[in-house]
Amino acid sequence: MKQTRVRLKPGRDKSLRRGHPWIFSGAIAQASGTPQSGETVCIESAEGEALALAAWSASSQIRARVWSFATDTVIDAAFIHAQIEAAIALRTKLPELAPTHTNAQRLVHGESDGLPGLIVDRYADIVVVQILSAGMERWREAVFDALHLQTGASVYERSDAEVRALEGLPQRVGAVRANDHMVWHAPIHEHGLQFHVDVVGGQKTGFYLDQRDNRQRIRALANGRRVLDCFCYTGGFALAAAAGDAQSVLALDSSELALHTARENAQRNACAERVTFTQADVFAQLRELRNRHERFDLIVLDPPKFAPTAAQTERAARAYKDINLLALKLLAPGGLLASFSCSGGVDAGLFQKILAGAAVDAEVDAQIIGHFAAAADHPVRLAFPEGDYLKGLLIHRP
Ligand code: SAH
Repeated sequence: MKQTRVRLKPGRDKSLRRGHPWIFSGAIAQASGTPQSGETVCIESAEGEALALAAWSASSQIRARVWSFATDTVIDAAFIHAQIEAAIALRTKLPELAPTHTNAQRLVHGESDGLPGLIVDRYADIVVVQILSAGMERWREAVFDALHLQTGASVYERSDAEVRALEGLPQRVGAVRANDHMVWHAPIHEHGLQFHVDVVGGQKTGFYLDQRDNRQRIRALANGRRVLDCFCYTGGFALAAAAGDAQSVLALDSSELALHTARENAQRNACAERVTFTQADVFAQLRELRNRHERFDLIVLDPPKFAPTAAQTERAARAYKDINLLALKLLAPGGLLASFSCSGGVDAGLFQKILAGAAVDAEVDAQIIGHFAAAADHPVRLAFPEGDYLKGLLIHRP
């Protein structure tokens, strides 16, 4: 079958020539045929120069995602195998991921690993896959085969992210390559701490691996402090703080399921008596703590994505400002605030401005004494700034 050629409008080839892997619907002039969703097409400039091979997505604003800028590449199962092999090989070279530090890591980080729309996390002998684009959906069996073959692990699919709807894809969840007697939850370890990961009922793929190094930094700062961990999920930061000899830890989340696992994780790490897990809406609970004149020496704010895309940026900015303002008021003098945003629609510059505004309104003087980003197994392709979604500031209240 002849490959469909997709012609861009004049001047709309610039981002592609800089290596950005997305082609938006508004940049497209015409196509030589009617490609199916997931089909490989050749993208060409208005002048007819072939620029890239990309996966077509008929219903998404991101109409095509680049497989390769070398237009003689063959996009087939062998290509998928080779890309996954390269992604895994990179991880074996990262000292942060030595088996003594952890047995849980991100194996594939989407566009930044040359695999648009594919997220893969490994938890001990389970590999969890999220397929988020029509192009990757087309190669799903090759993805599962490659992962099973190359890791020896059982493979579970968690393609239940909302963004699949934008690609016209239904939700798909379940075991796709299973070794004998498989149970779909795994005990993992991270810098000496034990966590239980429920790949079936947990959020996303089951655990937030991107915060691994940041949890270590919080552990190093926690000694003797009264700690408040907001949006604690299964206890990542809370248990790191307890392991770092915090005086006390109060951890809040709205999900009872997450808190159940968090309490079990505290038992596993023999620090249940120093950590209190409470089900609460953080927005309301921070007000309640302020009204009770509570004070903390170290606060972690790790909220969910308030702005997945730029369209929700304004509302998200108000939400970030609200919780940061309240957190700054709850800080004792000399206290620290570790404040995160994983919103693609809020970049590092805007996030800093939001926190500056929160400090003014809270009437506290504050200094940035550190920056946070995602762990090294979440690489960011230089041409793809969207991959740099996690940012954080460490704020000191003098
Ligand atoms: N810090 C965690 C990850 C946090 S993910 C870790 O290191 O593992 C964000 C968490 O926020 C989720 O567990 C979700 O249940 C919780 N959440 C979302 N909205 C909330 C709200 N309004 N109040 C409290 N928790 C909320």
